Amino acid sequence: MTGGGSGLGRVIVDRYVAEGANVTVLERAAEKLHDVEAAHGDRVRAVQGDVTSGHDNAAAVATAVSAFGGLDTFVGNAGLWDFGRPLLDMPMADLEHGFRELFDVNVKGYIVGARAAAEALAERKGSMIFTLSNAALYPCGGGVLYTASKHAGVGVVSQLAYEMAPRVRVNAVAPGGMSTDLRGPHALGLGSKAISEVLPAESQQRQYSALDLAATAEDYVDPYVLLAARSESRTVTGLVFDASAAGTPRRPSVAH
Ligand code: NAD
Repeated sequence: MTGGGSGLGRVIVDRYVAEGANVTVLERAAEKLHDVEAAHGDRVRAVQGDVTSGHDNAAAVATAVSAFGGLDTFVGNAGLWDFGRPLLDMPMADLEHGFRELFDVNVKGYIVGARAAAEALAERKGSMIFTLSNAALYPCGGGVLYTASKHAGVGVVSQLAYEMAPRVRVNAVAPGGMSTDLRGPHALGLGSKAISEVLPAESQQRQYSALDLAATAEDYVDPYVLLAARSESRTVTGLVFDASAAGTPRRPSVAH
């Protein structure tokens, strides 16, 4: 599990442990890792590292295999957002550096994580699950850097579902907006800013939801359980589970 220190990743860790799983977390923030370890003790192994590093991903997989005897599910989840920065608001140098930083985490991180986990997953007929976004399928979930990176995630799922069959299932969950610690690239001056600082108030968030919801990370966790469970989803691979409701326009008024 990558990026399990806060937000959606932390909710997935808590839920997987509650479902009976042991979880290894690859996360760069030491203080977040301490919190996860304090909450779950022996059920969790914490590996401090960077998802853009093949070495760190391999270390996390090796930890999972030695501590828990194997790997059933790899969840690629750590990500960066671009805070919807429009193309024309990015000077060329910022654009180039921002692209590299954001794609390194959101795309390279998923691919090298998949590479590190692939053999261990194949041994157990396990599965990969990637966190995508409404921005993987629709415009307006970010700027061009984030939207392009999450669309690339659809390609990662499609190609790896093909390559890893029949031994490993590969799927994704596309959540919508939620108030978390999600940061942006330092190259765009967004490394210390969190999405929680810029999301509108709950009542306004509901106006953007076709389902009249201001969703939380907890609202998106069930598909991660479903897709990890062999018995419930053994026929499912190559799926992007759209949990965002972003493809359905909001009606002008909602009847209560
Ligand atoms: P978050 O920042 O709370 O969680 C992401 C975690 O990943 C953090 O703990 C962070 O420290 C860690 N991380 C970031 N870069 C890392 C790196 N290079 N190496 C190791 N760890 C790293 O944010 P979140 O909102 O829970 O984001 C999780 C996923 O959900 C992301 O892929 C994001 O794109 C996606 N998502 C978020 C939203 C939203 O509105 N928050 C909406 C749709 C999709």
